[in-house]
Amino acid sequence: MITGKTKVTGVIGDPIEHSLSPIMHNAAYNHLNLDYVYVAFHVKKGKAREAIEAMKTFRIEGLNVTIPHKVDIIDYIDRIDETAKLIGAVNTLKLEEGKIWGFNTDGLGCIRALEEVTSLKDKKVLILGAGGASRAVAFQLISENIGNLYILNRTKKRAEKIAEDIKTRTGTSIFAGGLEHLKEKIKDADILIDTTPIGMHPKTDEKPLVTADMMRKNLIVKDLVYNPPKTTLLKEAEKAGAKTISGIKMLVYQGAESFKIWTGRKAPIDIMEKAILETIKR
Ligand code: NAP
Repeated sequence: MITGKTKVTGVIGDPIEHSLSPIMHNAAYNHLNLDYVYVAFHVKKGKAREAIEAMKTFRIEGLNVTIPHKVDIIDYIDRIDETAKLIGAVNTLKLEEGKIWGFNTDGLGCIRALEEVTSLKDKKVLILGAGGASRAVAFQLISENIGNLYILNRTKKRAEKIAEDIKTRTGTSIFAGGLEHLKEKIKDADILIDTTPIGMHPKTDEKPLVTADMMRKNLIVKDLVYNPPKTTLLKEAEKAGAKTISGIKMLVYQGAESFKIWTGRKAPIDIMEKAILETIKR
């Protein structure tokens, strides 16, 4: 029951009405009997400052931040954690003694999803796409003792910019290039992570950048798209006998990390995943 003592958390973004985060977090709060509620706030582009002021005024304990505010919001928060600073984007805010902290749990969410099926040590990882999610995943992978990292993108310059930032901020050199390197790099990779929105609802039949003939049995294939849970890329990977990881896993794990930041409690992963799958099926 929501009372005068209930702590408020939520997500800001534009658009926001299709967000699955309220379903996932409220299921977790109910399961653990925590006096919290999670709501979606429609905050338009350019309104990050007002959102931060509102968070302080209304004493909102925690917020997730999604498109288009992940970068802009940094200018208005009081403190930023080391990983979020490296990535240059924030997806989680916490109000603490009147000050707002910024974190980024996207990369860690992806790592946790991968760790369900493999160790990352010395692995060669190929990332497709060079947007915000790619940046978060790439920076997090660099701190995980992997073997090599390759980033390929339709717009080569954006991949090169991530590589340049990784080199400047961590001293690590990685390979960055255009999609013409795909056939060569996928042969060498142990793990493929697709961070492009290809195959995302409603374009669920869109042809993926990588097809079954380019994959093999001992490849691990992770898609970031979570709706549908089984994308055209994951169907192709299955045809090749490769191991697949749905985008839902990352969604749940990044949410679980935010949950821990706000409540100090370990999140009930299975309950969160079940709530999302039931909603998507409807
Ligand atoms: P973004 O910043 O817009 O970046 C998208 C990237 O995909 C860009 O590098 C873009 O290439 C590339 N791309 C887009 N369409 C393409 C196409 N048809 N062919 C080749 N490349 C294409 O988006 P984002 O924030 O990184 O998010 C990417 C995806 O990850 C979205 O589907 C999002 O929903 C998902 N995501 C999932 C989770 C999760 O928890 N599972 C978390 C975060 C994001 P150019 O640079 O050439 O434009």
